[in-house]
Amino acid sequence: MSFEILSLDQGTTSSRAILFDSDATIKEISQQELKLFYPHKGWVEQDANAIIEDTLQCAKDVASKASNIRAIGITNQRETTIVWNKDTGEPVYNAIVWQDRRTAKICEALKAKGYEQVITQKTGLVIDPYFSATKIAWILDNVEDVREKAEKGELLFGTVDCFLLWHLTEGREHATDITNASRTLLYNIHDCKWDEELLKIFDIPKNMLPEVKPNTAHFGETDKIFQGQNLPITGMAGDQQSALVGQACFDKGMVKSTYGTGCFALINTGTNIPSSHNGLVTTIAYDLGQGPKYAVEGSIFVAGAAIQWLRDNLNVFCEASESETLALSVEDSNEVIFVPAFTGLGAPYWDPGAKAAILNLSRETNKAHITRAALEAQAFQTYDLIHAMQQDTGLEIKTIRADGGLVANKFMCQTLANFVQAQIDVPEISESTALGAAYLAGLGAGLYKDEKDISDRWKLSRSYKPEIQREDAKKGLTRWHEAVGRVRTS
Ligand code: ADP
Repeated sequence: MSFEILSLDQGTTSSRAILFDSDATIKEISQQELKLFYPHKGWVEQDANAIIEDTLQCAKDVASKASNIRAIGITNQRETTIVWNKDTGEPVYNAIVWQDRRTAKICEALKAKGYEQVITQKTGLVIDPYFSATKIAWILDNVEDVREKAEKGELLFGTVDCFLLWHLTEGREHATDITNASRTLLYNIHDCKWDEELLKIFDIPKNMLPEVKPNTAHFGETDKIFQGQNLPITGMAGDQQSALVGQACFDKGMVKSTYGTGCFALINTGTNIPSSHNGLVTTIAYDLGQGPKYAVEGSIFVAGAAIQWLRDNLNVFCEASESETLALSVEDSNEVIFVPAFTGLGAPYWDPGAKAAILNLSRETNKAHITRAALEAQAFQTYDLIHAMQQDTGLEIKTIRADGGLVANKFMCQTLANFVQAQIDVPEISESTALGAAYLAGLGAGLYKDEKDISDRWKLSRSYKPEIQREDAKKGLTRWHEAVGRVRTS
């Protein structure tokens, strides 16, 4: 019997709802751009109510064209932090977005106190403003009356998945999934529990935290908001883990890399929990109800955002897609290197103080060279992650499944294959994130059987093989590493 799954994909730059049919093909999409606010240098916020309103509106749009929705899946920008009133649902502060660096000093102080080792050992993460814990602490300490109210049990914390679930269920369910929990710096990925010692270190009351469930579970039911029906929410995962599922990377050693606002590469390590010695993080990949599988992840804060910056701040082109023709209008980047460290450097450098730079400019440099360099930067950044992953896991990475908005750019994909010296596979459905949430919801509702049922549906669209020699790739990488060395502060 044919059925539909409603996937809600709440991303950094937009909120989307996608209706998938039982063959996992897209039937309807509705999307709304989401505003980012930059109230101070390094601060990045969003209106948490707009996140709800936009996502609900998109969901209603596609649901109105549906005939047989059987389950809802949710996937979201991770780490973004919201604290809200338990009774009214009203946020006490804007959503603090994952890119926000305001807590860099808090992180430095924690490192100076020697907490890095225990935190990394328990969470698989590093102390960085990127993750939620210091963002929650900032809200507790800087918004009037909030700490007092939180201690009295009047406030709730959640990442975007959790806030959406709470609203979709009219406040009945305060729950998150294990992948989102694993990005907070408060969750012990070995014991799979909120960790008392970590809560103490960050000074966060436990009663604010949501219940943690596997990625396939009965998270709750909507309250007749879609075509008068109560629909079950049966799958939830953070965007990158959801993309891993959408790309059917279920075997140990399989890698996916997503190019949206940022770039996130994950390698499935199965039940192994390797510690990274090369600047990556260890995280929960998914739990389909049989216990967690793990992944090593490299997170880069700026990927497509560099293209957006060229478009919006420098007016180099009107549409992101024009970057491809422009890049191809020159033979090479004329040695220009673009280090897009607009919000510091993420993996494997973790340098919140680093600033973006465009280097090696000469009199003949033009906008095409700079655009080409911005696209090549995606390949260089990915090389750093893949190299570190191979070192950490001892696994050889020959193929990468790529997705996200930027893979529409064929020049970027070929450059990626060239500099990483790996095969880049782009699937038919490049909306892997939303697809992953649909698969999880389908598994949670018993509409799909198992991982194989999902793997069988993965279809290749385009494949890119390296077209330059390893030695030539090395020349570009050397220039990249010199440039990174020049922007680093630590
Ligand atoms: P997110 O889910 O993080 O909001 P998307 O996966 O929708 O992001 O990807 C959007 C990003 O991809 C934007 O930053 C945009 O600049 C970039 N982008 C989209 N299409 C292209 C293209 N053809 N060439 C280069 N960049 C692109």
